[in-house]
Amino acid sequence: MSSVSTCDVVVVGGGIAGLAAAWHLRDLDVVVLEASERVGGRIRSEARGPVWLNFGAHVFGGAGSATGRLIAETGTAAARVEGRLAAVALGDRVLASGRVETYPFRLPLSLRSRAALVRAGVVLRRAVGRYAATAAERPGESAAERQQRMLDFLDDRSFTDFLGPLPPDVDAIFRATLNRSSGEPEELAAGYGVGYFHLVWNRGAGLSRNIVGGSSRVIDALAAGLGDRIRMGVPVTGVLRDGDGVRVRCGGEELAARAAIVATPAYVTRTIVHDLPVDTAAALDAIPYGPYVVGAFLTKESGPMPWDGTYALATPQRSFSMLFNTANVLRTGDRDPGGSLMVYAAAGYARALAELDDAGVAERFLADLHDLYPEARGVVEEVEIQRWERGLPYPRPGRGRLQLALTRPLGPIHLAGDYLGTWYTETAVRTANAAAGRVRERA
Ligand SMILES: Cc1cc2nc3c(=O)[nH]c(=O)nc-3n(C[C@H](O)[C@H](O)[C@H](O)COP(=O)(O)OP(=O)(O)OC[C@H]3O[C@@H](n4cnc5c(N)ncnc54)[C@H](O)[C@@H]3O)c2cc1C
Repeated sequence: MSSVSTCDVVVVGGGIAGLAAAWHLRDLDVVVLEASERVGGRIRSEARGPVWLNFGAHVFGGAGSATGRLIAETGTAAARVEGRLAAVALGDRVLASGRVETYPFRLPLSLRSRAALVRAGVVLRRAVGRYAATAAERPGESAAERQQRMLDFLDDRSFTDFLGPLPPDVDAIFRATLNRSSGEPEELAAGYGVGYFHLVWNRGAGLSRNIVGGSSRVIDALAAGLGDRIRMGVPVTGVLRDGDGVRVRCGGEELAARAAIVATPAYVTRTIVHDLPVDTAAALDAIPYGPYVVGAFLTKESGPMPWDGTYALATPQRSFSMLFNTANVLRTGDRDPGGSLMVYAAAGYARALAELDDAGVAERFLADLHDLYPEARGVVEEVEIQRWERGLPYPRPGRGRLQLALTRPLGPIHLAGDYLGTWYTETAVRTANAAAGRVRERA
């Protein structure tokens, strides 16, 4: 026989979505149930003196975004991302300056590949322009209408079908950037893939700020504000409607509440929420997640390094597909010694490392870092590896058609999380805010 306790609202999941929802409802009797022994979910950083190692999300929305407001409300310090966002390294060439339109002429490519890259670049540029027009907010429309329009943009084909066949080296360049979404170009809805380039080519497009001191700072601030409302190490096994309210099962215990906000990934939500409408269950089942293997490097350089002016570098044909200069946000004045880099292998790059243990991955990542930047030899003093088996949900073609089923009202049960839209943590926070708002309306 399970024991039953009561509260106003149960929040399931202590990632940024769950914590943001609870934060907005903290004047109520709210309980957050988190399965693991830490909160933050796919946001994780660890301080190392003045710098930090980063393992998950690292760039966030600006001051006007829902994430920006949450960052401000919690008193967390954030600063504009400094440095080049669209750098590319191919072979022994690192391009971290000049317009991206000049890359086809500066990368080590054959004439045929150069021509293919120019053609694909022109097609993509035009599509990015259309994406920007589609994404622009329109007077009087709801957030849901805007999100639906974004999901429907070029949603009838894959990115590969949209761009057409490419020579292998050109394909590798696009793939390394698109893999940031955790999917392969063949799997991703074309519009979503185009949106990724919109993000990378336009600093103002959304993800424009780093959290000074590391991404976990915002999680720590939320957790401090919520205090003992958070219970960790409590995996929820069932969320059921019970009259006008809910019952939430965890271990031998049941919590009865007026409402539940379920802020777990789609594949967990699908299994723990009972009696979902058939189309909602099917839509949750249809959200794929791709893997990441992250390497976080602590560096001890005493002076300037060649990556100082770069924030994000695509690294096709290496063991990792992206490199980020995590400490670049600190480089606005005189340069202090030491730093931190994050690399990751996403999607197919991550699957290629599945057989290696962490030491093997660290060795391979380091070898590539040294090859890319010989100046990195002897300056890396710590390497940590983090694997995310299901790192990010990505839209397959047809994703737009799932949206109504994912967002339909479920009475006292409200869903939140990044899988409900296209803006990563921003979607997580927006859907959390919306869920908290609906809970209040029903109160
Ligand atoms: C390597 C990497 C880099 C990224 N970079 C960026 C970036 O730069 N910018 C950006 O905006 N986004 C980025 N993202 C995505 C971002 O991390 C996510 O969009 C965001 O953190 C999702 O938050 P969430 O709360 O929806 O889900 P999660 O963070 O997954 O939180 C869900 C929580 O639910 C808990 N849980 C699961 N099952 C149960 C259960 N049964 N009972 C109770 N609790 C449960 C989990 O332990 C977890 O804490 C990145 C992701 C990765 C992996």
